[in-house]
Amino acid sequence: MSVPAFHPPVRTLMGPGPSDVNPRILEAMSRPTIGHLDPLFVHMMDEVKGLLKYAFQTENAMTMPVSAPGSAGMECCFVNLVEPGDKVIVCQNGVFGGRMKENVERAGGTAVMVQDPWGSPVDPQKLEEALIANPDAKIVAFVHAETSTGAQSDARTLVEIAHKNECLTIVDAVTSLAGSPLKVDEWGIDAIYSGTQKCLSCTPGLSPVSFSEAALEKVRKRKSKVQSWFLDLNLVMAYWGGGTKRAYHHTAPVNALYGLHEALRIVQEEGLENAWARHQRNHLALRAGLEAMGIEFVVEESARLPQLNAVRIPEGANDAATRSRLLNDFNLEIGAGLGDLAGKIWRIGLMGYASRAENILLCLAALEAVLADQGAKISRGEAIAAASQLLAD
Ligand SMILES: *Cc1c(COP(=O)(O)O)cnc(C)c1O
Repeated sequence: MSVPAFHPPVRTLMGPGPSDVNPRILEAMSRPTIGHLDPLFVHMMDEVKGLLKYAFQTENAMTMPVSAPGSAGMECCFVNLVEPGDKVIVCQNGVFGGRMKENVERAGGTAVMVQDPWGSPVDPQKLEEALIANPDAKIVAFVHAETSTGAQSDARTLVEIAHKNECLTIVDAVTSLAGSPLKVDEWGIDAIYSGTQKCLSCTPGLSPVSFSEAALEKVRKRKSKVQSWFLDLNLVMAYWGGGTKRAYHHTAPVNALYGLHEALRIVQEEGLENAWARHQRNHLALRAGLEAMGIEFVVEESARLPQLNAVRIPEGANDAATRSRLLNDFNLEIGAGLGDLAGKIWRIGLMGYASRAENILLCLAALEAVLADQGAKISRGEAIAAASQLLAD
């Protein structure tokens, strides 16, 4: 029996990622596959590196996409920088800090956890105290934009504190890159990783990373080999290093990289500052609509991520039924809560190409219709007007 072709519906992706993919990117990905050592492809790889430097706001030579999703970029940072016996301070305020701990331990390091409540940003004072208590710590790791809670931490301050104590920094920027202000060189970040499917609005499967000279120095001075062959920066860089010396390491995902190339061109065309401002403006419009409905935000105003809106599920609403009706009747995906927040919150993404006026109005109208049908405790008839007013400004 033959299996029919898979034809996915066109959805509006307003969850924690993947986000709506710009059609220009899908078109770029369907172009002819060429060899990964073809000079034309090698030239395009160099352009991807240059465009990534712009997106990260860095001059780091070691800036490139790892050929696997964001989690692989995370692993790439930890396996290269953490040597057996290294003490690493991990600031956790959500799901992804927990994965950092797991990475430290699997690389043979010791993780010292600095915990903050889910929904709060990382507290710089707690980091300072942890560094005083652990003067032998070598690395500080934290998540810039916690996608599991919608909280943004003050990366610049946390890096400053780490450096004062002679620690290198590993920063998770999977959700912040191209959505919120992020300046790798100005803030002095040593190792950073991101993903393609959040505010870059590309397909999932690649992880942009960047390493400072200080981070590379630590990798070069390692006493033991990096335990992952695939993610060993010494080997990966010989492939991504540029010029004619390119050595075969693995086969780059050729068409996926066409997509990233186009995604980064789109970021450059719009301009990073404009992209950050658009995310903020659209967040305020969505927020006005949700609050007019009587729906509350989880994170305090000063730490809210514009690209990931975590809101409390209103009284009388059925979590799973709401999300499934949005998906089936409106082709609209929003995210559920994770861990302790499961069943209590929704995560509404406005990432990259998904951060558009039409998506905000669709989401507000659909959510209101579904919640009204359920008899949930919301105010009706106010949300669209409240959001439109801000969108028109
Ligand atoms: C999505 C995400 C990741 C993991 O990325 P994958 O591409 O799913 O592997 C890591 N950290 C944060 C903050 C994320 O939002």
